Amino acid sequence: MSEIKDLIIIGAGPAGYTAAIYAARADLSVLCFEGWQPGGQLTTTTTVENFPGFEKGIDGKQLMQEMKKQAAVFGTEYITRDITKVDFSRRPFRVFEGENEYQAKTVIIATGAKPRKLGLESEERFWAKGVSACATCDGFFFRDKTVAVIGGGDSAMEEADLLSKFAKKVYIVHRREEFRASRIMLDRVRDNSKIAILISKAVDEILGDQKVTGLRLRDIQSGKISELAVDGIFLAIGHVPATGIFKSIEKDDLGYIIHKQNTMTNVAGVFAAGDCVDHRYRQAITAAGMGCQAAIDAERWLAGQ
Ligand code: NAP
Repeated sequence: MSEIKDLIIIGAGPAGYTAAIYAARADLSVLCFEGWQPGGQLTTTTTVENFPGFEKGIDGKQLMQEMKKQAAVFGTEYITRDITKVDFSRRPFRVFEGENEYQAKTVIIATGAKPRKLGLESEERFWAKGVSACATCDGFFFRDKTVAVIGGGDSAMEEADLLSKFAKKVYIVHRREEFRASRIMLDRVRDNSKIAILISKAVDEILGDQKVTGLRLRDIQSGKISELAVDGIFLAIGHVPATGIFKSIEKDDLGYIIHKQNTMTNVAGVFAAGDCVDHRYRQAITAAGMGCQAAIDAERWLAGQ
C-alpha cells in the first residue's frame, strides 16, 4: 500500500489529463491510472481539427501525449494499468489494481465510453481509415463522397444530418423498421434530399481492399444479400460507458454516471468527468472542460474538509 494521495484520477482521456493538469498545478498530489490504452478514444482517430489552438489540426495521439506531459510538469504520477476494483464505502477511498491497493482523499472517475461496434473483423481493419464513430471528428474528410451511417437512434439521425453538409450522399442503414430516434430528428433526415434511409438491413461485411468501397447488406425479412457502394462508414449504434466497476456510484439506465452536486457523484469526494457522464456532446473539448470542473470541485471539496 502506498501513501495517501490527495487525488486519484481513473482514466486518461481529455477529461482525466485535464483534471490532472488543474489538480497537480493546484499543488494536490495526483496519481492517474491511465489504463492499458492511455489517451482514450482520441488515440483511435487521426487528425483532430476542432480542438482549439491548432490551426493545422493535431494528431489525436499527439494531442493526448502533450496533455499527459503537461500534467507531468506539475507532478502528476502515472500508472499504466487498469483499475480492477474500487472501495468508496469509507475514506480514504481505496482503488485496486490487481493485488495492489492505492488510497486517496478524493477520486475523479474519467473512464470514458466506447463506441459500440458491429463485431466484424473488417470493421477493425478499417477503423479510423474509413470507419468512424464520430461525424463531428471525421465528417470533414468525406466532402463530396458517399457515406453510410449505421443505426436508428438519435445519434444516427444527428450524424447523418451533419454528414449531409459534407457528403454528396448519405445512407442511413438500420436493422429494423421502427426507429428509436425521436420524431423530430427522424423527420429532419426524411426531409433532407441528400439522405436515403434503408430499413431492415443488417451489415454483414465492410468491403474494400486498401480502402472502404462498400457494404454487404442482408435484408432481415427476405435474407437477400445486396451491396451498397460507399466511401466511408459511420457507426451510430450506441456507446457503452466504462462504468461497470463503480457499483456504489449512481448511474442512469444507460450506465452513465449521474452528477449530484456540480461534478460530484452520490459519494461525497468522488467526482466524475467526460464521456462516462456525458452522452450528449462527447467531444474532446467538452470532456476536457468537465475534467477542469471536476478538478476544481475536488480541490474545493478537499479544502472544505
Ligand atoms: P440508441 O438510442 O441506443 O440507438 C442505437 C441504435 O443502434 C438503435 O437503432 C439500435 O437498433 C442500433 N443498434 C444497436 N446495436 C446494433 C448492432 N449491433 N447492429 C446494428 N444496429 C445496432 O443510441 P444513440 O442513438 O447513441 O442514443 C443514445 C442516447 O442519447 C439516447 O437517449 C438518445 O436520445 C440520446 N441522444 C440525443 C441526441 C439529441 O437529443 N440531440 C443526440 C444523440 C443521442 P435497434 O433499434 O434495433 O435496437
